[in-house]
Amino acid sequence: MRFLPLASGSQGNATVVEFDGTRLLLDAGLAAKELAARLEACDVEPASIDAILLSHEHQDHVRGAQKLSKHFGIPVAASWATLQGMDRSPQAFAGWIDLPVDHGVRIGAVTVVPFPVPHDAAAPVGFVLEGDSVRIGVATDLGHATPQIAERLSGCDLLMIESNHDPLLLRDGPYPWRLKDRVAGKLGHLSNSEAAALIKHSVDERCRCIVLAHLSEKNNTPELARSSALRALRARGCERVEVKIARFDRPMAAVHL
Ligand SMILES: [Zn+2]
Ligand SMILES: [Zn+2]
Repeated sequence: MRFLPLASGSQGNATVVEFDGTRLLLDAGLAAKELAARLEACDVEPASIDAILLSHEHQDHVRGAQKLSKHFGIPVAASWATLQGMDRSPQAFAGWIDLPVDHGVRIGAVTVVPFPVPHDAAAPVGFVLEGDSVRIGVATDLGHATPQIAERLSGCDLLMIESNHDPLLLRDGPYPWRLKDRVAGKLGHLSNSEAAALIKHSVDERCRCIVLAHLSEKNNTPELARSSALRALRARGCERVEVKIARFDRPMAAVHL
């Protein structure tokens, strides 16, 4: 399995996941041209992608989806509610795979199970992906973590979890108050300490790598996010789990499991 975040954060999100010959793109939130350039820089031929999975309709997750799909003939996998949130019909894409919440869908060698997360979109989801006897959990863009989400993310070899902001940097930072309230709210984004609590409740002996994602450029630093996650791992006795940080400006070094 190869896990390759191409971009992460409010400017755009996209991650390549490869299992046993099946290539998926999780979100397509950069402009199609930039996405294609980053894919090619990582030796991934865009036309070789089997499906584009969409977590929700915010621009930083779907910006390049339609063009990439049409241009390279890649089907899009998303719930009907997410398509409606995008104001698109299935014909807008090279193909559509319905991704009903809580139902497993098989795409090539991978079982994809979307699960609901609290966020201010039509039907936002996280994903559990399983194939190659490797299990991956992804939850970015969630305002708070519930016990059900921790449960979904348990038993994974790799977790990608949002660690968006430090509450003090957010409070004292440059955002207008309305945006501060949205980010910190129950349907906004996960803070470093909320991410740490989710890690503490979901990580177990199977987990080998945690990727911290969707870090705010203005209201967080990689050091704060990392040290918060490491504290959570120490508290669980899981110090050997590798912690990586996905960036907005360039692809992260791929994780191979
Ligand atoms: Zn986002
Ligand atoms: Zn969002």
